[in-house]
Amino acid sequence: MLPENRLTTTQSFRDFFPPHVVTFTSDRSADFKLSGTPTPLTRSQSAFLARQLGFRLPGVLTVRQVHGHKVIIVARTATRRPASLPAKLEDADGILTDRPNLAIAVRTADCLSVFLYDPRHEVIGLVHAGWRGTQQRITTQAVALMCQQWDSNPKDLLVAFGPAIRSCCYRVGASFLEYFPKETAKRKQGYFFDLPETNKNQLIGSGISAANILDCAVCTCCDPTCFSYRRERESAGRMISIMMLKKQS
Ligand SMILES: [Zn+2]
Repeated sequence: MLPENRLTTTQSFRDFFPPHVVTFTSDRSADFKLSGTPTPLTRSQSAFLARQLGFRLPGVLTVRQVHGHKVIIVARTATRRPASLPAKLEDADGILTDRPNLAIAVRTADCLSVFLYDPRHEVIGLVHAGWRGTQQRITTQAVALMCQQWDSNPKDLLVAFGPAIRSCCYRVGASFLEYFPKETAKRKQGYFFDLPETNKNQLIGSGISAANILDCAVCTCCDPTCFSYRRERESAGRMISIMMLKKQS
């Protein structure tokens, strides 16, 4: 049975991914802003996740997000020895792994979290995509690396989008018309950018089927249960997105 306080954003992905693929996005009940601690999560953040997920995460790998297009790979080694994790936080905006029971995590407050899963090769990926990362095609990069490292076929991949700022609220400068001509709309109040739609279009361009892309459709700026940088500026906390292949060892 699921714990009572399990957040709704998690549930939207529950029927989309198989049960051993754990996906989760927090709301504003807890702030997951990157702390100065040497561990990826503080004790209270770990305890919050354990309550929400119904189990304690065995290991968590995160990155220092820099709005770039770098995606790190943590592959399972051929030997019995577990692959070593990066000793310190790397500057990157995406993580790919085929390692069971290793939770990968990104933090967002308006940016899009992109969950990727290759059911044939049992590989997962999580990407933090703001407009800068999207302009640098970080999700395309993540798919290309999955194909390169694990021989993934884009046609097999399942992709889900977490909460993000949507075109209802994402007012931008006219320069976005140059960056994203298809996904920037001119309205009476100005220009509005559709961040999830842009990532969707890029994924389809990478060979992923539109039917295999699920968008939770939550706008972080409209929805008061979310943190939103646009709405709250510097005081905005961060939501965490988690993905893990849960396997019995
Ligand atoms: Zn909105």
